[in-house]
Amino acid sequence: MSDTFPIDLLRTEPTPFYYYDTRLLADTLAAIKAATAGDADFHVHYAVKANAHPELLHYIAEAGLGADCVSGGEIRASLSAGFPADSIVYAGVGKSDWEIALGLDADIFCFNVESLPELEVINELAAARGRTARVAFRINPNVDAHTHANITTGLNENKFGLAMEDMIPAIRRAEALSHVRFVGLHFHIGSQIEDVRTFIPLCERINELQDRLDAEDIRAELINVGGGLGIDYVTPDRTPIPDFAAYFAVFREHLKRRPGQSVHFELGRSVVGQCGSLIARVLYVKEGHSKKFLILDAGFTDLIRPALYQAHHCIENLTADTTATERYDVVGPICESSDVFDRQVELPVSRRGDLVALRSAGAYGEVMASGYNCRELPRGYTDALLKGRP
Ligand SMILES: *Cc1c(COP(=O)(O)O)cnc(C)c1O
Repeated sequence: MSDTFPIDLLRTEPTPFYYYDTRLLADTLAAIKAATAGDADFHVHYAVKANAHPELLHYIAEAGLGADCVSGGEIRASLSAGFPADSIVYAGVGKSDWEIALGLDADIFCFNVESLPELEVINELAAARGRTARVAFRINPNVDAHTHANITTGLNENKFGLAMEDMIPAIRRAEALSHVRFVGLHFHIGSQIEDVRTFIPLCERINELQDRLDAEDIRAELINVGGGLGIDYVTPDRTPIPDFAAYFAVFREHLKRRPGQSVHFELGRSVVGQCGSLIARVLYVKEGHSKKFLILDAGFTDLIRPALYQAHHCIENLTADTTATERYDVVGPICESSDVFDRQVELPVSRRGDLVALRSAGAYGEVMASGYNCRELPRGYTDALLKGRP
């Protein structure tokens, strides 16, 4: 059982809600800093889509990370959390005109462009403002991330990015336009990549593409390798902080950087995943024919990853007062059969009113919540916020 939860504080809050351990977040940010120290050309941008809780964003901005946004709303959230505009990169296959305009007006660091029509629109909107937009092209490197199909983004049949053979013509087109400036290449092969060696083929592919750029006498100021580093969902207490040293070492060793070239990273899950838990209460223990159900007051409207990606989250009973155990199917209240967090989980014998934590839920948890079934959105609290209450 975890001793990382301030049970007395959690007990008094109406459930379900997200609880964020900012001490673990601080340690994680320190680990990223340590792993990139001594490499002034490495820049880490936090992928805001993983968790946009204002307090967490504020912590992350204070630690000196940049922001990686995929919408105008995320650019706004990043700016108000204190991320400097010149640390913001902006990706997405479907950028609306107002979102591009917002990025231009804020003078963000770089647009990661995913198609030629988008490049033309950015150029037009920038011209109308008398600005020049820095653009990197997102290239689909056709590298297999060996992860769940719904979170693989770097294969050829994916909607993201430009095909490799379209790279040079796209750069030539950018050079011909007056209000965009080509600055580099962007990649992102997928998410929850647990074996860092998966990034070696990405580096090799980037090296090949850079050789093609050299042959055309094109200079890329930056290479953005995206995000995707995974976390340990199975034993979160054993690996609360991902192995950032091993991750960055792969790029240090395998990516052939050109002189003065900067390398950008867009880490989301690995920054915030382990610091968050969804806290729920047991509503009912229901005896089925052949099994027992633990019915929680949280469902897939609060945490959709198990239903959407067949993802596993460790489930803990935080308040049980027995060591005797029982197997339960842990389910939510939503009127859908897919509203199951996990099946046949061994837990201490549980009762109505017990507090339960779904661990490793800091990334793609609260941000993906919905109001389906007219449910209220879960709130998110940091430890500091809970303690500071009257
Ligand atoms: C989602 C996303 C990321 C972050 O991915 P993680 O797996 O959370 O690190 C980075 N870059 C882009 C372009 C993304 O879409």
